[in-house]
Amino acid sequence: MTIEAPAPVRVHVRVRGIVQGVGFRPFVYGHATGLRLAGHVGNDGDGVFVEAEGPAHAVDLLVEALKERPPRLARVDSVTVTPLTPLHRQGFSIVDSVAAAVPTTPVTPDAATCNDCLREINDPLDRRYRYAFTNCTNCGPRFTITITVPYDRANTSMRAFGMCGDCAAEYHDPANRRFHAQPVCCPACGPRLALRHGTRHVDGDPLDETVALLDAGAIVAVKGLGGYHLACDATNTAAVARLRERKHREHKPFAVMLPSIKWAHRLIHVDPGVLAALTDRRRPIVVAAAQQGNGLAPAVTAGNLAVGVMLPYTPLHHLLMAGFGHPLVLTSGNAADEPIAHADDDAVARLSGIADAFLVSDRPIHSRADDSVVRVDRGRTVTIRRSRGYAPEPIAMPVVARRPVLGCGAELKSTFCLLRGGQAVLSHHIGDLENFETLQSYTEAIAHYQRLFAVTPEIVAYDLHPDYLSSKHALAIDGVTHIGVQHHHAHIASCLADNGQPGPVIGVAFDGTGYGADGMLWGGEILVADLCAADRVGHLEPLPLPGGAVAVRQPWRMAAAAVDAAVGEDEPEHLPVRARHTELWHPVRALARSELSASTTSAGRLFDAVAALADVRDIAGYEGQAAIELEQRYDDAVPGTYPVGVDDGEVVTIRSTDVIRGVVGDVATGAAAAAIATRFHRGLADAVATAVEEVSRRTGLRVVALSGGVFQNLTLVDLVSERLARRGLHVLMHREIPANDAGISVGQAVVAAAVDGREKKS
Ligand code: ZN
Ligand code: ZN
Ligand code: FE
Repeated sequence: MTIEAPAPVRVHVRVRGIVQGVGFRPFVYGHATGLRLAGHVGNDGDGVFVEAEGPAHAVDLLVEALKERPPRLARVDSVTVTPLTPLHRQGFSIVDSVAAAVPTTPVTPDAATCNDCLREINDPLDRRYRYAFTNCTNCGPRFTITITVPYDRANTSMRAFGMCGDCAAEYHDPANRRFHAQPVCCPACGPRLALRHGTRHVDGDPLDETVALLDAGAIVAVKGLGGYHLACDATNTAAVARLRERKHREHKPFAVMLPSIKWAHRLIHVDPGVLAALTDRRRPIVVAAAQQGNGLAPAVTAGNLAVGVMLPYTPLHHLLMAGFGHPLVLTSGNAADEPIAHADDDAVARLSGIADAFLVSDRPIHSRADDSVVRVDRGRTVTIRRSRGYAPEPIAMPVVARRPVLGCGAELKSTFCLLRGGQAVLSHHIGDLENFETLQSYTEAIAHYQRLFAVTPEIVAYDLHPDYLSSKHALAIDGVTHIGVQHHHAHIASCLADNGQPGPVIGVAFDGTGYGADGMLWGGEILVADLCAADRVGHLEPLPLPGGAVAVRQPWRMAAAAVDAAVGEDEPEHLPVRARHTELWHPVRALARSELSASTTSAGRLFDAVAALADVRDIAGYEGQAAIELEQRYDDAVPGTYPVGVDDGEVVTIRSTDVIRGVVGDVATGAAAAAIATRFHRGLADAVATAVEEVSRRTGLRVVALSGGVFQNLTLVDLVSERLARRGLHVLMHREIPANDAGISVGQAVVAAAVDGREKKS
């Protein structure tokens, strides 16, 4: 008896998503040849196409692999299968890219070292043993080395390095993990490390010598993936103190790199969320609650009860950490407020007063990218800074732009956003747009992204604040449609975008300050918003802002103003914050009452006032410090809340002065900071829920979006969400797009696209 082979089937498969430059073709080739299928695979402007012919079950297995187990760096959005007539051909091949192809995702983010590469650098018999620049199609530098498109070696900062025969063989072998890996290299042909003391070259193995210096308490500038870091022994009190002093950074906690995941358990409270974030292939800095007695020098966290830790993400970091053996401070290589140094000359010039030595290489960094930061607490994860490893991966938007849009962002934690079709490219972290260096880095990066993504914006969206450098930049662009987007509308829109929703929703936007539609300083807003428009339906009761920027830096001044507004002359006898600022207390109160003082609905300033009253912080060294430290005093075990009234006039108002009266009452009786912080969080959450419920009753809306920098406070997010859920309301929170001003540019872009789309229709 003879068994007849089943008739072959032939299909065309279209794969869309992030499928180019991520090793997709060798992956398909490997599977197809393993399954003995005939056909080919190639790239074109629409993604990857496959033709496969063979037994039906084998074809099914291939399609399943495409959907379920794509390469590590790929993101498969859709797989479409179309049947074709069998041709009875043999063999499988990779076809050349279609010449007309304009890839929609030409540049992918930098990716942390994969396990295969890690194995090689730890294998004494491998030719890449201890080689700091090892990479493959599944890992390594991408965005930071890309000079222009198409993404080919000649267009990257690897162009100066000719491949050796061994590397070239891997590069051309479709079955090899390094097939078409543009930065492929090895010790024979690739970049090299060098250690320098000033201009003097240090002999010996650069890694061993660096470890010896770090062991001796030195500060070493280390050229990383997206810029220079400053490194020192995180357990050496004197070394960390020296770094703080030289860097002129007194307050902001330093990030720490750990040799391995085992160390995380010693340093921080590890739960499944923390573990997932730490081992995420994008390797962000993970901010989590610190363990007591963790052995870190106290100056690492500078009084903060949380610590930011990360795992090694380049071969250089793996080798350095393996040699050093315990945690290393790894903070961005800059003096306070400047962008991270990434060009070699510039780094030496700017960091030579800080670093004792430089661990460098001859591979240029084309674009800077700071480390990304996520925060994990109470079972929730939020992105604080979306940069290295994330940017420039496109994010799907709930709106399809008719014309390309540039969102220029805000001022602090600046980013910009390019929106084309339904995809947004959110830039890496640029920094605070307050000095020339940062502004230059911002304008250069916008031009670079426009080139990489072949986008010429026809619409430019900007913040209404007339003094923001980003707004000025936007308005100076000629020949485009300008669309101004109110700051808190942009916040809520960014939250909608992050959740793939068009609205309308009830938006709660709490932040430091944003320019209001009426020219006032907003920051505690309840909006009814969709992508096109926002209506201010509620806010915090305004408090005086005595002295503008000074009051922002000195929370005790907000305390004086808030006390003045809340209790007038009925100040309690026991008020420690007043005792600490006796001389200026009454002048500041008088200023708060005068017409010279602006007023603000800012939730951030309310946190400031409470932090100073609770003896948590009088002077802030960085934005949000008082609020962060106040949140850290929150204690579930403390009973009680402050009763906070909500006025249900035409515009719903949360009575901030009620909050202050509650706090002052507790302070008068000598209550602990933890009690005040806890009752404050609960009282504010109660009031927000009551106000939102009232808006919901009036509008019939049942979905609530929480945005703005204050909602990086996961305790507040948790308390508000819990209360809203109890009322049957659905809550949208930020996930990948930061809730702080780094998300403003996306919000602006989607609003502008939606407004433009609506105008077309009408
Ligand atoms: Zn790899
Ligand atoms: Zn080589
Ligand atoms: Fe804001």
